[in-house]
Amino acid sequence: MRIIDVHLHMDMEDKKDKLGIFRDVDVDYTKDKLLADMKAADVEHAIFNTVDSIGDGIECSVYATPIRMKEALEHIKDTPNLHLMPGINPNQIPKNALKLMEDALKKGLIKGFKILPGYTHFYPQDKVYHKFYNLAIKYDVPVMFHTGDLNDGEGLALAKYCHPMHLDEVAVNFRKLKIVMAHLGNPWIRDAAIVLNKNPNVYADLSGFFVEDVPKRCKFTESDIQFALEYVNEPEKFLYGTDWPLVKMADYAAFMKRVIPSWMHKKIFYDNAKSLFKL
Ligand SMILES: [Zn+2]
Repeated sequence: MRIIDVHLHMDMEDKKDKLGIFRDVDVDYTKDKLLADMKAADVEHAIFNTVDSIGDGIECSVYATPIRMKEALEHIKDTPNLHLMPGINPNQIPKNALKLMEDALKKGLIKGFKILPGYTHFYPQDKVYHKFYNLAIKYDVPVMFHTGDLNDGEGLALAKYCHPMHLDEVAVNFRKLKIVMAHLGNPWIRDAAIVLNKNPNVYADLSGFFVEDVPKRCKFTESDIQFALEYVNEPEKFLYGTDWPLVKMADYAAFMKRVIPSWMHKKIFYDNAKSLFKL
């Protein structure tokens, strides 16, 4: 089955690095490893997002908006099946940030933006983001928000910013903005379902439900995901993603294939992402 993974991360220094969440473990998530894993798991396209120094806490906000965009674009320039959503760091927005992003959008180099409310301590509806929302609307690209549980390795992240309900206000005030709710608000999945159901401009990705080991069965998570699919009753609004390298691609796909009704597979694993991100 053809797969598009809309949510993962890549180490751009091309060496084994430590993700905050894997503090004590060496994880290889270089471009070469990513491409090899994609091939093995039948993943045709992958969209990665750049984040600030998760693992070092808010006091160590090192990357300015757009987070590592230049470096990331250089890194993928010869790899047509890797795509970028640069992160926005509301604590560091240089004067030229918007222009840099608009230039990249004009050239079709980026697929949208990523926002991490819990790590940066700004609510999604904060005015600091509005100019970016208007830019995303102008170029018809989505903005992805981290929602749900989080771990920065330091205990400085705040879950209150990550409740999916905060996206309701953004969705209503910016009707033309396409919003991707990452992780389906896990574990606030039922709260996520109402936001998805009432707002035609809100989508959800199914990434990041597990870290490291994907369980063979996970009764309550499975039933919550199935609840959301049934309640929203619009498979077009769900996107497949993994949050690689936090999980192994093949294991995660096997889990989701079992949980998602088979008649929705083509849409959720491939078609929806292809049209939303214009791949
Ligand atoms: Zn992620």
